[in-house]
Amino acid sequence: MNVRRRPISGIAVAAVTALGLGTLSACSGDSAEASGGGDGKLDVVASFYPMQYLAEQIGGDHVNVTTLTEPGQEPHDLELSTKQTAELGKADAVLYLKSLQPAVDEAVAQSGVKTKIDAATLTELENHGDVEHDHGGEEEHAESEEEGSESTLDPHVWLDPVKYAEIAEGVATALEKADPDHAADYKKNAETLTTKLDGLNTAYENGLKNTDTKVFFTNHAAFGYLAERYGLTQEAITGLDPESEPSPARIKELQQEAKADGVTTVFYETLVSDKTAKTLAKDANLKTDVLDPLEGITDKSEGEDYIEVMQSNLEALKTALGAK
Ligand code: ZN
Repeated sequence: MNVRRRPISGIAVAAVTALGLGTLSACSGDSAEASGGGDGKLDVVASFYPMQYLAEQIGGDHVNVTTLTEPGQEPHDLELSTKQTAELGKADAVLYLKSLQPAVDEAVAQSGVKTKIDAATLTELENHGDVEHDHGGEEEHAESEEEGSESTLDPHVWLDPVKYAEIAEGVATALEKADPDHAADYKKNAETLTTKLDGLNTAYENGLKNTDTKVFFTNHAAFGYLAERYGLTQEAITGLDPESEPSPARIKELQQEAKADGVTTVFYETLVSDKTAKTLAKDANLKTDVLDPLEGITDKSEGEDYIEVMQSNLEALKTALGAK
C-alpha cells in the first residue's frame, strides 16, 4: 500500500474530526456522544464525501452522519486510525463504496455494523478499460489482463448523476429497512434528491450536446462515467490514482492528441498537485481549469455541495469543449 499519507496521530485526528463535524453536519452532535447516545437518531458512518452527501440528504433529521475521510484529504489511499475503526464499529449503519478505499473495505468487513450499505452494489460499475487501474499506488499496470475482476472496475461512479441517483434510491431503501419508523421521510428525501439529480442530468445533456470538441484532459481518470454518459472522451494524465506520475511517452501522446482533437484545456483538481497538468498545459500551449472529481469538499471547492460543484464542472466543460 502507498504510504505517502502517513497516519496522523490519534489526537490530531480527533481534533480534525471535531472541527469537521462542526462544519459538515451543523445539526448533529459530537460523534462520540452520538454513538449510542440515545438521541433516537441513526448513526451513519460515511466513507467519503459523495457517500456523506447521500446520507445527509436522504437521512435528513433522522441521522447523525460522520465521515471517515476528512475534508481536504484525498480519499484514495485513506488509512484509518484506531479511533475511527472503533467508532465505525459502533455505528448503526455504514455507507461506503467498495474498492475505492481498501482500508475502509477491511474495517467494514471486520465490523459488526448491522446495516452495511455498499454503493457499488446499488448501481452497475464498469471497466473503463484503457486507463490504468492502480488504486494501490503502483506506477503502472500492464494492459488490463484482470478483465472482469473487481479491481478493474472504475469506482468513480458518483460523477454520473444518473448512476448517483440509482445509488440514492438504494440508500433510501436500506435506511427504510434500518429505521422503519422514518421510512416515509427517507423515501421523500430521496425523491427530492433524485429530482435534483435529474435536473443536473438534463443540464449536462443540453449543455454538452453541441461542442467544438468531445475530448477533455483531466489529471486523474475520475470522469469515465461522466464522459460515457454525455458522449465525451476523457484523456487522463495519470490513471485512476491521482498521484501517480505519467511517463514522458504519455505526455507526448497527450500533446499530439491536443492538436489532433482541438483540446483547449487541461483540467486539474483541488485535492492533489496541479504541477503535471500545468506543465503539460504550458508545453502544449493549453489553458488550465478546475474539474472537480468531488472526492472531498473544501474551501477551495467551487460550490458548497455535490450539486453546486457539478454545476461548476458543467460550466468548465462547456467552456473547454466550446459549447454552442
Ligand atoms: Zn479518484
